[in-house]
Amino acid sequence: MSEEKDLNFIEEIIEADLNIGKYHTIRTRFPPEPNGYLHIGHAKSICLNFGLALKYGGETNLRFDDTNPVTEETEYVDSIKADVLWLGFNWAKELYASDYFEQLYGFAVKLIQKGLAFVDDSSSEEIAIQKKSPSEPGIESPYRNRSVEENLELFANMRLGKYEDGAKVLRAKIDMSSPNMHLRDPILYRIKHAHHHRTGDEWCIYPLYDFAHGQSDSIERITHSICTLEFIPHRPLYDWLIEKLEIFPSKQYEFARLNLTYTVMSKRKLLQLVNEGYVSGWDDPRMPTLSAYRRKGYTPESIREFCDRIGVQKRENLIDLGLLEYCIREHLNRIAERRMAVLDPVKLIITNYPEEQTEELSTENNPENKDAGTRMVPFSGTLWIEREDFMELPAKKWFRLAPGTMVRLKSAYIIRCDDFVKDENGNLKEILASYIPESRSGADSSGIHVKGTIHWLSVAHAATAEIRLYDRLFKVENPAMEEGDFKEYINPDSLHIIERAYIEPSLKDAAAGEKFQFIRKGYFCLDTDSTAEHLVFNRTVTLKDGWVKETKK
Ligand code: ATP
Ligand code: MG
Repeated sequence: MSEEKDLNFIEEIIEADLNIGKYHTIRTRFPPEPNGYLHIGHAKSICLNFGLALKYGGETNLRFDDTNPVTEETEYVDSIKADVLWLGFNWAKELYASDYFEQLYGFAVKLIQKGLAFVDDSSSEEIAIQKKSPSEPGIESPYRNRSVEENLELFANMRLGKYEDGAKVLRAKIDMSSPNMHLRDPILYRIKHAHHHRTGDEWCIYPLYDFAHGQSDSIERITHSICTLEFIPHRPLYDWLIEKLEIFPSKQYEFARLNLTYTVMSKRKLLQLVNEGYVSGWDDPRMPTLSAYRRKGYTPESIREFCDRIGVQKRENLIDLGLLEYCIREHLNRIAERRMAVLDPVKLIITNYPEEQTEELSTENNPENKDAGTRMVPFSGTLWIEREDFMELPAKKWFRLAPGTMVRLKSAYIIRCDDFVKDENGNLKEILASYIPESRSGADSSGIHVKGTIHWLSVAHAATAEIRLYDRLFKVENPAMEEGDFKEYINPDSLHIIERAYIEPSLKDAAAGEKFQFIRKGYFCLDTDSTAEHLVFNRTVTLKDGWVKETKK
């Protein structure tokens, strides 16, 4: 079953379970709480859960962990489904923890009947005091020894809505002196008179995470319930509840969550960025959400590759954002067609090119993929080139334009820079050049060799576009770990908009989301804000890792 690649620790566990015949097939689940959009950290969990089931021939459920009525919304459910599908995975069943409310209620009754749960009138403050700290034993609630009959009646009345929020809770009766705080009579149910996105006003009591999660796993006969490391101390409670309820023995395994440099990952923090207007929405291309990466031009393949490369660890670490950028660069290099775009234009006039003449020159769509074919680009004697491709006083090893130097215009001719003109403010206005007619690419008999090649667009033919250049949203590597509010570390220059860049005319037909390499400039994709009259491109990633670490003072 194992491939050349080393198994991760969860695969080892699964292979051992399958080998001893503990299970014939595995079942995993991806259990998002629908209280926000999925982020790249969730992608790691998705790739892991779905990937394991694919590898071992099992199945994966998509289970919405929707037991908290206050923060959950249908908009989030829809976006989560779209994102999982986009990543390339199909769930066996779409399930909701809220569909188990009746069953979970029955489980709670069973615990009460077994003398293992009680209704507590203590307030949350009183319960916190009872629990004390891990270094000293807690004290038992004065309501702990209520009779089974009384507990059953009170719990039924909780469900019937006879009490206000916070008036009572249902607690498991485990061990108030356990060194594990989660076993000190944990709360299983609380009263919350709130509207639920699916069950409406049917319920006014809601199970807590620990009482819903493992039980839902068990109801679905999940064999390997994979979660992040912070749930390690919850595992004894997970096992206790399953054992006492005598239900399917799902098992919990924990791996390290993904942390990425220059990124915050918690949905609570991402929601603040959205609500407080630091970004334009959950899919603002600077966000680490999957919808933002999609809009920015990332491919599902690149994200899956990234998740594969980072692997599965048992210890927390911080992954370099550069690795994610490397993965998308690699993929787009293979699949994105090349186009020319001039982001910071200056005019270049070829003085010996016949006025009024134009040509259609053939150029490759992708040198990495011959099947991508060629296209024709219009050429004329008046061109846009990048301002940065000219230097009045050339530096050493300058192979681009300067007075007297020669370069090749990509897929066109060799030109020589003869002169330049400045405006009244001393800014470069235009460059005057002459071309070598017999140097046309593909039919070059000039015998001239030049070291530099620059891109260009014919002024008369070029289309225009708005171009959005994104940089990291945070200035520091680990904003969540810095002192004070993480928002103090937002990079004020994370978005730079070029209102009017020039692009090849063929780009007018691009479809939203279509991806290109603008040669020498990076990878770009057409944004969803684009219209036929006003094209908008997002920069997905630069061609090289150009980020210089800000030195800490
Ligand atoms: P957040 O703190 O961002 O809200 P969460 O864990 O509360 O995250 P859930 O919707 O409850 O979000 O998570 C669904 C699944 O995704 C869980 O199994 C969770 O462990 C996993 N997950 C969440 N964040 C990460 C991460 N950064 N890396 C890996 N897995 C993650
Ligand atoms: Mg959560």
